Amino acid sequence: MSDSTFDVIVLGCGGFGSASTCHLARRGLRVLAIDRFSPPHDQGSSHGETRIIRKAYFEHPDYVPLLKRAYQLWDELSHLTEESRSLEEQKLFVRCGLLLAGPSTGEVITGARQSAQQHQLTLESMTAAEAVRRFPMLRISDELETVFEPDAGFLWAERCVAAHLHDAAGHGAQFAFNEAIKDVQFGSNNVTVRTSEGTYSAACAVVTAGAWTGQLLPEYKEWIQVKRKILYWHPISNSAWADPTQAPAHLFEFPGSGRQFYGFPSVDGRTVKLAEHTGGDFVADPSSVDRMVRSEEGIGVSDYANRCLSGVLGTATRSAVCMYSMSPDSHFLLDRLTHVPVVVAAGFSGHGFKFTSVLGEAVADLVTNGQTSLPIDFLSSRRLLSRQM
Ligand SMILES: Cc1cc2nc3c(=O)[nH]c(=O)nc-3n(C[C@H](O)[C@H](O)[C@H](O)COP(=O)(O)OP(=O)(O)OC[C@H]3O[C@@H](n4cnc5c(N)ncnc54)[C@H](O)[C@@H]3O)c2cc1C
Repeated sequence: MSDSTFDVIVLGCGGFGSASTCHLARRGLRVLAIDRFSPPHDQGSSHGETRIIRKAYFEHPDYVPLLKRAYQLWDELSHLTEESRSLEEQKLFVRCGLLLAGPSTGEVITGARQSAQQHQLTLESMTAAEAVRRFPMLRISDELETVFEPDAGFLWAERCVAAHLHDAAGHGAQFAFNEAIKDVQFGSNNVTVRTSEGTYSAACAVVTAGAWTGQLLPEYKEWIQVKRKILYWHPISNSAWADPTQAPAHLFEFPGSGRQFYGFPSVDGRTVKLAEHTGGDFVADPSSVDRMVRSEEGIGVSDYANRCLSGVLGTATRSAVCMYSMSPDSHFLLDRLTHVPVVVAAGFSGHGFKFTSVLGEAVADLVTNGQTSLPIDFLSSRRLLSRQM
């Protein structure tokens, strides 16, 4: 790389790093994005084909205004970068709808209804029997309530990372990929980064290192715990799984246990992707996460397929290990540090991908203006400091 001095260096270039790099480069800043691998890759948290996107956010209504902006930005990015994708890879965002099922008092149904009501979102309520008539690939027991969000769907995760990077490159961003960050020195108004290949400096840095955030910023180590998560692909015996009007994206919460399972329509005509959102084992070092999947680990998801889905075989033919970076309260950590010129976006707790577009914009605002008009105050780590007192 000829240049070694930049306005901003982005440390880690997965979902959030690629979006931040794109928004920073669009503002005319000289940006360098560094990653140990060559994104999009399958070693962090932003791989495995698809990610659910929805607005009736059961985790908290405060996320909804950010989601409205995220939707606009995904549509804009799709439009801006569609020429760079082949015909089979045209779409970033598929609005296939999302069916939520769970107990009436559970987190999912209660929270989705609250967000929809507070922000005037379309959320169709129906009985379990009505839902099964409409979506015959789902099996829903009468004890569960169901709601359908027609404007929800899924993002093609790796394509989104690639699209942000493509747009960033078009605006002059530079990349140092396949370079591991070995050491970062934070001064009061500059940052120096040493990698396996060279040394770079900038007026400020953005830390978007996912599961590795605590290794680059020790003060975040205690706040981010890394969980090993598994995605499964199950064969289908009914081609209706490729038709979202019969088989939309789905997320079930089970009474008593509170366990949450989810899945997608078939994107390849042969399998569907399924996973459990709850559960997962904590790992000490994300670089040595166990990527071997043992057959007994798939029992919960197989049971979900057998009980709640029609025309899906119980045994997976493919799996992939991914990581959740859990914050203490499962809400995101988005901060502009005061003692050093650093913006951090971390702790996305297994539900962050849909926000990469809008929080990339927020990161660029924080770097360029020191503030943003996007409503992100509730994501500041200040809330964790007050919990500790
Ligand atoms: C199984 C699974 C399912 C999910 N489902 C959904 C969903 O349906 N909807 C949703 O919205 N979200 C979902 N999420 C969450 C979402 O995918 C994550 O929140 C998001 O991808 C996190 O992106 P990130 O940029 O923080 O991390 P990453 O994409 O992992 O990026 C971090 C990057 O930093 C780089 N890096 C770290 N340390 C170094 C270093 N020392 N040197 C160089 N590079 C370094 C890594 O190589 C990596 O590329 C899911 C996550 C998983 C794992």
